[in-house]
Amino acid sequence: MSNDPSQHEPLFDSFGRRHTSLRLSVTDRCNIRCFYCMPAKEVRFLPRSEILSFEEIERFVRVTAAMGVSRVRITGGEPLVRSELPTLVGKLAAVSGVEEVALTTNGMLLDEHAAPLREAGLDRLNISLDTLDAAKFEQMTRRQGLDRVLAGIDAAQHAGFTRIRLNALAIRHQTEDEVVPMVEFAIERGLQMRFIEFMPLDADAQWTDDQVLTGERIREIIEQSLGRLEPLERSDPSQPAVDYRFVEGRGTVGFINPVSEPFCGACDRLRLTAEGQVRNCLFSTTEADARKLIRSGGTDEEIFQLVRECIAAKKPGHGIDNEAFLRPQRAMYQIGG
Ligand code: SAM
Ligand code: SF4
Repeated sequence: MSNDPSQHEPLFDSFGRRHTSLRLSVTDRCNIRCFYCMPAKEVRFLPRSEILSFEEIERFVRVTAAMGVSRVRITGGEPLVRSELPTLVGKLAAVSGVEEVALTTNGMLLDEHAAPLREAGLDRLNISLDTLDAAKFEQMTRRQGLDRVLAGIDAAQHAGFTRIRLNALAIRHQTEDEVVPMVEFAIERGLQMRFIEFMPLDADAQWTDDQVLTGERIREIIEQSLGRLEPLERSDPSQPAVDYRFVEGRGTVGFINPVSEPFCGACDRLRLTAEGQVRNCLFSTTEADARKLIRSGGTDEEIFQLVRECIAAKKPGHGIDNEAFLRPQRAMYQIGG
C-alpha cells in the first residue's frame, strides 16, 4: 500500500464529514486524579502488554495519514508518564502526510520534557490547568502539584513553544472564582485561554447537567470584570473552540461548549485508545479493534477497511441532551481527551 495521501479515498462518514484529525492516547495512566475524570481509588490500569508499542502506533498513523489524516494530537491518561515520548513524537512527525503533531498534558512533567519534545518535532501544546489556587488544585486533582505545572509552563515557553493553549475545565460552583485570575494570567503570559464544559465522562459517574458551567456564563463573568468580548471569525470550522477577543485590550479567550452548543456537525476527529481501539466519537459505545488486527498480521489494507467502517458508522451527534443518551463504558482517561 502506498503512503501517498493522495492514493486513498479520504475518510468520510455517512453525513459527509471528512476526518483529518486523530486523537491518540498513549497511556491510561496518570500522575494526578482529577475528580471529573478518574476515580479517587482503586484505579485499574491496563497491563503493559495491552498497550500499543510505538511501532504499532506509528503504523496506525501511517495508514490513517494515507487516508488524509494530517493532524495528530497525543493524549491519555497523562501522555508524559509514558517513557521516551519524544521518540514517538519524532516518529509521528516524520510520517508522510502528517502536518501537525500536538500534545495535551497536565503539565506536571513538562519542566523536564518540554525541550526534548520540541527538539523531537512537537508543533503544539495544550496544557490543562483549572485553577491558580494551590488548595483548589489539590481539591480538584486529589494531588499537590500546582507549582510543578507552573514550572512546566515556564519550561514550555523557554523551549520555544508558541500559541500554547491553557485549557480549564469549568464546573459550576467551583470555577466561577477562577475565571478572572486565569484569564489575566493567560494574557500576561501570552497563553491562549480556553474554558471547556464538563461532560459526562467522569469515572465516578457523578456528572449532572446542573454542574455544567456554560461558556455563556463564563463569558458574562469575564465581561463583568475585564471588559467586552467580541467573537473572532472561525478560521477552521472543525475547531471546537469559539474564540473571542477583548474589544479594548489584548488577549483572546476560547470556549469549548460541547454540552450547551454541540459542535458535532463539524467534527473531523477519530480516536485511538491506548490499547488500540478505534473510536469514532468520545461518546461512542462501540469500538473497532485495531490492535487485534495489527497483532494478528493484518495488512495495511485491512486496517484501512477497519477504520473506514468505524467512521462510516459514526452517529450525527453525541446526544447528551437526548433522553436515550447512554454514557460510554469508558471514562475520559480511558479514551483520551
Ligand atoms: N492528562 C492530560 C490532561 O489532563 O491534559 C491529557 C488527557 S485529559 C483526559 C484531556 C482533557 O480532558 C483535559 O483538558 C481535561 O480537562 C479534559 N477532561 C477530563 N475529563 C473531562 C470531562 N469529564 N469533561 C470534559 N473534559 C474533561
Ligand atoms: Fe489525568 Fe488528564 Fe484525567 Fe486529570 S484530566 S486525571 S490529568 S488524564
